[in-house]
Amino acid sequence: MSADDASLYAYIESLLEADAYREHPLYPALEQLYRSHCGQRKRLERLLSIADGYQQFTRDEMREVQQQYERQLRRERKLSRISDHYQELMRESNRELHAASTLDPLTGLANRRKIAEYLKQAACRAHHDAATFSVVMVDVDHFKSINDKYGHETGDRILIELAAIMRQALRTRDLCGRWGGEEFLLLLHDCSLAQARQLVDRLLARIREPRFTAGEEALALTVSAGIAEYRLDESYQNTVNRADLALFQAKRDGRDCYRVPV
Ligand code: GH3
Ligand code: MG
Ligand code: MG
Repeated sequence: MSADDASLYAYIESLLEADAYREHPLYPALEQLYRSHCGQRKRLERLLSIADGYQQFTRDEMREVQQQYERQLRRERKLSRISDHYQELMRESNRELHAASTLDPLTGLANRRKIAEYLKQAACRAHHDAATFSVVMVDVDHFKSINDKYGHETGDRILIELAAIMRQALRTRDLCGRWGGEEFLLLLHDCSLAQARQLVDRLLARIREPRFTAGEEALALTVSAGIAEYRLDESYQNTVNRADLALFQAKRDGRDCYRVPV
């Protein structure tokens, strides 16, 4: 209540209490008006206090809702970070799985499954673009005795070095894959039998050079090969089989040489 209001109330109350005005004709009207005013004032104050309480309640509610919302937002951000992390892990393991399913772990060359894919594509291309290709099966000579004499680890190292030599001898678009054990398959694109012969001739000479060692000792290594050019009337598996038969012939003819199908 303001100071003015308080002094007005005090003044009216003093008038109503004074005996001198009891008989005044306006006394009952003033008294009634004053009491009615005081009653209304009390009701107004009660209403104001209810409204204040309600406002406070609404503010508290809003704050609670906002805090809940922020907590939820933080939870969702955390979940989204975890989900991103797992997705990255999944992608990484998919990449590893893909590499494991297509690459030979020892030499890093394409494995048999991947070679088959490349052969299939090459055969398709041969039909569409009339582009020929040749297949060379390469097998290390007497590799078992290298393992027996120098140990399996030296054998592994020789396979890795041999893989690198063959890779270097090929053009970038050609493929050198590990067919299995000590056997490799070369896929030579746009390459006739005559061109493949020249390439394999050079490759055998390069491998024959005294370049391999086991400790201090020089190690003589040779390979044999069978070459077959793809024919449009056959499957690529048949080309591989023909190259394999030619390889068998090279082995029979004394090794360290290549043969072509008769
Ligand atoms: P050939 O001239 O007739 O081919 O004789 P070879 O001794 O090379 O052939 P054989 O099939 O008798 O032996 C192949 C050997 O290659 C036997 C096997 O232990 C070895 N080998 C196969 N894969 C690996 C490998 O990953 N690492 C090592 N160190 N040796 C291997
Ligand atoms: Mg073999
Ligand atoms: Mg062999």
